[in-house]
Amino acid sequence: AAKNAGPGLVEVFDEAASHRSLDRLELRSELVRALDRDQFAVHYQPIFDLATGRILGFEALLRWHHPVRGMVPPDAFIPLAEETGAIASIGSWVLAQSCRQLAAWHRLPGWDRLGISVNLSATQLRQPELASQTLAVIKHAGVQPTDVWLEITEHSSIRTDVTEFATTLRAAGVHFSLDDFGISYSNLSHLKRLPVQALKIDRSFVAGLTEKDADRGIVRAILAIADSLGLQVVAEGIETPEQRELLLSLGCQQGQGYLLSRPVPPEVATEMLREARPLPRLVRQAS
Ligand code: C2E
Ligand code: MG
Ligand code: MG
Ligand code: MG
Repeated sequence: AAKNAGPGLVEVFDEAASHRSLDRLELRSELVRALDRDQFAVHYQPIFDLATGRILGFEALLRWHHPVRGMVPPDAFIPLAEETGAIASIGSWVLAQSCRQLAAWHRLPGWDRLGISVNLSATQLRQPELASQTLAVIKHAGVQPTDVWLEITEHSSIRTDVTEFATTLRAAGVHFSLDDFGISYSNLSHLKRLPVQALKIDRSFVAGLTEKDADRGIVRAILAIADSLGLQVVAEGIETPEQRELLLSLGCQQGQGYLLSRPVPPEVATEMLREARPLPRLVRQAS
């Protein structure tokens, strides 16, 4: 069941339920102090042009290095950070860190068009100053707003009215992606209401792509919607050459996943850019 459970709520809930409440309380208070104690790091997963293998940008993914528990995955602590309100300071730290890193990458020869994608959660979208703070952070880092992609989910956008926030940032040039697209509400009216420029196909559909007709059908439908609305599409969770091949043949141009690269620390990402390794040649599909 775990394999088919969608990302986010279901897994998080199970995990939380399995913790003793004392344990959870402890984690909560440690989380509030983790920023000051320098326990967070941002890792980066490249987003590739699937046809050419060129890196188009990176998604920033938060990591918590707990002194005793080791690496705590974001799905286990982001909900706690939302409950405690710590997400506000953590989120602005992630954005600042990511934008500073992007500015550094832009100084490498050939990489001045690279983009950065940063995840925003529902609680963050409710902060009244979020739009102005976001623009201030981007400006301070010295990157262009158009290089920044903010990832929101259907779930977070239905729980909050993000229209004003998104419209303000959009007017400044910031881009928006609808993350984990297809798994929660899939209310197509979101696409009309939200100024998004890209859809990210949830990895649960990519996982079933080569075996399940239904998943293939859903991916086709998402690509058709994106095409008719003029949106970009990024496939998440590509783990096999067959998935990548099939996505390409269906017309999906961008993707990320363990096949191509896991999320890596910033110095490894920098090395990838320096080497600018092209992807292995496309495999021919078995006939
Ligand atoms: P997401 O935004 O949908 O990020 C994609 C997740 O899929 C990441 O998990 C990534 O490591 C994982 N992934 C990438 N490729 C593959 C693959 O080929 N196979 C599999 N099985 N997984 C793959 P991660 O880093 O554990 O993050 C989980 C979620 O936590 C993210 O989902 C995002 O919703 C949230 N998150 C991460 N960083 C932040 C952050 O800075 N702020 C907020 N608000 N949320 C964050
Ligand atoms: Mg997700
Ligand atoms: Mg994301
Ligand atoms: Mg996602």
